[in-house]
Parts: sequence; C-alpha cells; structure tokens
Amino acid sequence: MIKKKLVPLITDLDTIKHIAADKEAENDHFRIFLKQQDGKQVDSIVHQLNEAITPQIDCTQCGNCCRSLMINVTPEETASLAFHFKMEVAVVKDKYIEISEQGKMIINTIPCHFLGGTSCTIYENRFTECREFPHLHKDNFTSRVFGLLMYYAICPIIFNVVETLKEKFAFEPS
Ligand code: SF4
Ligand code: SF4
Repeated sequence: MIKKKLVPLITDLDTIKHIAADKEAENDHFRIFLKQQDGKQVDSIVHQLNEAITPQIDCTQCGNCCRSLMINVTPEETASLAFHFKMEVAVVKDKYIEISEQGKMIINTIPCHFLGGTSCTIYENRFTECREFPHLHKDNFTSRVFGLLMYYAICPIIFNVVETLKEKFAFEPS
C-alpha cells in the first residue's frame, strides 16, 4: 500500500508547464517503458497513487481542464442544468450546447462557460466528464497513457501521479 503522504508534490502550474516542456522526450520513453510492464500492476499502482495524490491537489486553484476539455453532455445533464438555472431545456441548449461533428451534445465554449476564475460555478451540477477527469481511477492505464500524457503539462494530478510512477518503477530516463 502506498503511504498517503508522498514526496512533496509540485502544484505550481507554471513550474509544471516548464518541467513538462523539458520532459517531452523522457515521457515518450516512459510511455514505451510502461507498455512493457504488467498492465494490471501498473493499474494497481496508478490507482493507489491517484487516491494518495488527488486529495492533496486543490482543483479550485487550478481549473486547467475546464480551459481545455471538450465536454460531452447527456440529455439528463442538460435537464439538470435547466433545473439548476430555472430555465427551459431549449433555452439551456441554445445558450450553452452545440452538436459536435460526431453528433454528440457538447458545451459550446472552451474554456467552459461555467468556469469562474479557477473553479466551477456549477460544481454540484458539473457533468460526468468533469467528475471523471483525469480518469486515473480507471483501468488500462498503459493503453490510455498517450492520451493522458497530453494533459501532463496542464493537470497537476496527472503530472504528480506520472512523476511518482516513474519513481515506483525506478525508471531511468535514457
Ligand atoms: S462544468 Fe465546471 S467542472 Fe465542468 S468543465 Fe465546466 S467549469 Fe469545469
Ligand atoms: S483535474 Fe487536473 S487540470 Fe482539472 S482542475 Fe484538477 S488538477 Fe487542474
């Protein structure tokens, strides 16, 4: 079991951005390295790291995912949003939602309409996609690592989980 308190985390967004720029090649190598490991073992360690690290990161001081993700919305979530704003569903759709090229309902702005400063103004009503990001509680990390590393530079949770994962595997950058 991984201890709750790990090495000090890096949470400053500018620092993470700069480190990420320096570590692009290293992360490419780590991605390939992970593909050679036991996927179930990687998942187990990532889940433990996620549980230990996420509570130490204050998403309300970040909001970076809300500035960059395309958010899918379900009909039920649209209805819930309409209820929250005391608006007709049609008005909510008109104001906040568009149909993607794939025919799905998505929030029609990036950054998201509902980001206020660095935090969500509809937190209790945020969408499933928002709740699940950065998806580190899910399985198959090794097959999803390419997509996750796309957010390494902007998400302190991903950044710190990946950096600690390197330590756990004694990964040596070549
Ligand atoms: S609904 Fe809230 S949590 Fe989701 S993207 Fe928008 S601001 Fe972020
Ligand atoms: S999930 Fe990551 S990118 Fe989104 S607010 Fe939290 S730390 Fe920032």
